[in-house]
Amino acid sequence: MTAEGKPVPDILPDTREYWEAASRGELLVQTCCSCGSKQYFPRLLCHRCLSEDLGWTKSSGMGTVYSYTVIHQAAHQTFAPDVPYVYAIIELDEGVRMISNVVNTDVSKVHIGMKVKVFFHRLSDTISIPRFEPVQQADTE
Ligand SMILES: [Zn+2]
Repeated sequence: MTAEGKPVPDILPDTREYWEAASRGELLVQTCCSCGSKQYFPRLLCHRCLSEDLGWTKSSGMGTVYSYTVIHQAAHQTFAPDVPYVYAIIELDEGVRMISNVVNTDVSKVHIGMKVKVFFHRLSDTISIPRFEPVQQADTE
């Protein structure tokens, strides 16, 4: 739990490297060393060929809003100060999709196909949560 009482991810043996990278500001995508398939979230086996020989690829952190919804009513009181907020499926440029939030913009401006980039919300010394914000024009030049 965070200081606000929100749940935080458990660091497990198969996700430790992912969370350590996130704390350094890097987004990793699990990559199968046998078939090359990429997957998100980290798992013990390749989702395609079931190989246990898995590695990591550093993501560019760039992606696109694949789908989203705006949360207006918090499911738990600890999220009440955050509403309205965007709960989104982000398709990373590496081809995998992940659940996250789109922040640092008005929720009414979020749309499918919006270009976004990752940043990390530091919750503790060991947990930094990947979130996304719109790509500004200067970022693409
Ligand atoms: Zn594989």
